Amino acid sequence: MLEVIEALIQATSKDRVTTNETILAQHSKDEAYLEPRNPDVVVFPESREEVSSIIKIANEFQVPVVPFGLGTSLEGHVIPYHGGISLDFSSMNKQIEVKPDDFLVTVDPGVTRSQLNKKLKPYGLFFSVDPGADATLGGMAATNASGTTAVKYGVMKDQVRSLEVVLPNGKIIQTGTHAAKSSSGYHLSSLFVGSEGTLGCITKLTLQVYGIPETIVAARVSFKHLNQAVEAVIYLLSAGIELARVELVDEVSIKQVNESNDKNYKEAPTLFIEFHGNEASVQHDISFAEEMLADADGMNIEFEKDVKGRNELWEARHNLAYSFVHGHPGKKMMVTDVCLPISQLALGIQHAREQMDALSLDGALLGHVGDGNFHALLMIDPENVEEKRKADLFNEAIVHHALQRGGTCTGEHGVGVGKMKYQQLEHGDSFEVMQQIKLALDPNQIMNPGKIFDRV
Ligand SMILES: Cc1cc2nc3c(=O)[nH]c(=O)nc-3n(C[C@H](O)[C@H](O)[C@H](O)COP(=O)(O)OP(=O)(O)OC[C@H]3O[C@@H](n4cnc5c(N)ncnc54)[C@H](O)[C@@H]3O)c2cc1C
Repeated sequence: MLEVIEALIQATSKDRVTTNETILAQHSKDEAYLEPRNPDVVVFPESREEVSSIIKIANEFQVPVVPFGLGTSLEGHVIPYHGGISLDFSSMNKQIEVKPDDFLVTVDPGVTRSQLNKKLKPYGLFFSVDPGADATLGGMAATNASGTTAVKYGVMKDQVRSLEVVLPNGKIIQTGTHAAKSSSGYHLSSLFVGSEGTLGCITKLTLQVYGIPETIVAARVSFKHLNQAVEAVIYLLSAGIELARVELVDEVSIKQVNESNDKNYKEAPTLFIEFHGNEASVQHDISFAEEMLADADGMNIEFEKDVKGRNELWEARHNLAYSFVHGHPGKKMMVTDVCLPISQLALGIQHAREQMDALSLDGALLGHVGDGNFHALLMIDPENVEEKRKADLFNEAIVHHALQRGGTCTGEHGVGVGKMKYQQLEHGDSFEVMQQIKLALDPNQIMNPGKIFDRV
């Protein structure tokens, strides 16, 4: 390894190549419940040329490279189980070039979503994808992240116009163009989106952005039963009401919201909804929605029209995971997500609740119901082997239930290590095609080995 470290210093600089124990430990884990493992060295590149040189060194010495954004992923994506180099993109966060007339922005991979939104605000623009953590755009593309607004604006894949990628042989390529559509050749941007650092490093992204809507109104409505809330969403969507956000928060989560945010929301399954548009269209949508929600047995419908109230509502939703962590000292959060066709979602959530109760697990169910995606958030004692076993059984049960109903083992968190065992089952013969693509691009399997696939 000493020879590798010497070569990495030559390719970058001494102060950006480190084996400091604290920094190694920071790169040994993400937000998953999985065992950490230190990399051998952490490198902080500042340009695509440096990334390319690092990858060439890794190839020459056959050393693994694990791209690292902010380490907020939830399935062990950045844990370097095979050792090697953790390639931290936090120093590549300077460029944010806004092209307002094209509704595009070109950014470095280490730029975070909130950093981008701050820059876009004076242009009257915003970037829509909002995972609960303030992640990097490189990491978000690599996991095909999404969040509360996917129901209207789509997921990360839908925002990526073009990418600059350093391939596992060190070659730098550009995928896609800045045109809004193209039928030219294979859609390589989509191949790299969601590839979790296993096919190369993203060193630049051109992303679609949107005009900040003139009028935004949020709403909160509760229901007696979870499945009534899901059915109400289907009802609203099939009536063609444009929902910009629609989040399901179960009773346990509402209790946590109340405790952590000093609120007294009704402790019942609840939908947090948001409408975007101009004054007239939003007014029309909310009066139509109000009627439909009442017909669907929605109770206590409340609207938040001012910015403060709306921000408080969404902050409470976004901070829910961390609220659970603070409310359960000594326990660790295990979050898992599955996604189903929306017609199957109520069944999926009901099944998850039954499994959680049958296993006596402490946890909550919430999710981006507008696109069929729900999350189970379990608080477990990492030292308690039996509790961990039960959490694994729960995870397995909800994944199998989703797969049997035409769903996927993860709607947005990704595969990492945690969902690797379901890949063959979900993809069948297509999984072999994925393995062939991996080997064609990365024959030495240096890029994030042991994620999505076992190392062959
Ligand atoms: C409280 C909380 C809430 C969350 N809510 C959501 C949610 O609502 N929706 C959602 O989708 N996710 C959510 N997540 C998960 C996480 O935030 C996302 O997966 C996010 O996209 C990870 O970004 P990151 O910058 O932290 O990347 P990292 O965790 O550092 O890396 C993620 C993956 O991307 C790869 N990678 C990173 N940078 C690059 C690069 N430049 N080139 C190539 N590969 C790269 C890594 O190797 C790894 O495989 C949540 C996480 C937390 C902790």
